[in-house]
Amino acid sequence: MTGKPYIVDELISAKAIAARVEGLAREISAYYADTDKLVVVGLLRGSFIFIADLVRELDLPVEVDFMEASSYGNSTESSREVRILKDLRGEIEGRDVLVVEDIVDTGHTLRHVLDILGTRHPRRIEVCALLNKPSRRETDVKARWVGFDIPDRFVVGYGIDYAQRNRNLPHIGAVRFTE
Ligand code: 5GP
Ligand code: MG
Ligand code: MG
Repeated sequence: MTGKPYIVDELISAKAIAARVEGLAREISAYYADTDKLVVVGLLRGSFIFIADLVRELDLPVEVDFMEASSYGNSTESSREVRILKDLRGEIEGRDVLVVEDIVDTGHTLRHVLDILGTRHPRRIEVCALLNKPSRRETDVKARWVGFDIPDRFVVGYGIDYAQRNRNLPHIGAVRFTE
């Protein structure tokens, strides 16, 4: 757990997030205009608010499913070992799949998830990430849609936690320790 006191500096306002989500949804709706098979896969837990806002802006018939992969645990250290804690409920064979992730950091989590989903023979898999930390990348994964590129700061809010706290912040902020 977090013992050290910290404050959260606002990085991206709720208003800026809403505008960007609308823009992403427009692009995604246009991209999938020719498919009636889209499955939107949210990676728990960090993407739960983003996916809720995003799917409501999509001008498409969609199914929503979820998967949970372990990454950070309760620390701010990235783990290269990725485990699937919760798998999809539905089949994706022959389907168009859009994976919705909160943050692409080193890229190991996404790489692992995409490898697993790829073995199930979907028609096509794309990724939409709310946040991207390009300076931290250690793998070759790339999201087709990114909400915001951000610097190498530990962020919280809009679904994203620090030791399970701050998920309910309406904006995205960076954690700063005060001692
Ligand atoms: P990666 O495997 O790309 O290094 O990290 C993937 C996951 O680590 C992200 O989807 C996210 O859940 C978590 N993560 C990466 N950066 C941050 C951050 O700044 N704050 C929080 N709370 N989680 C992060
Ligand atoms: Mg995540
Ligand atoms: Mg987390």
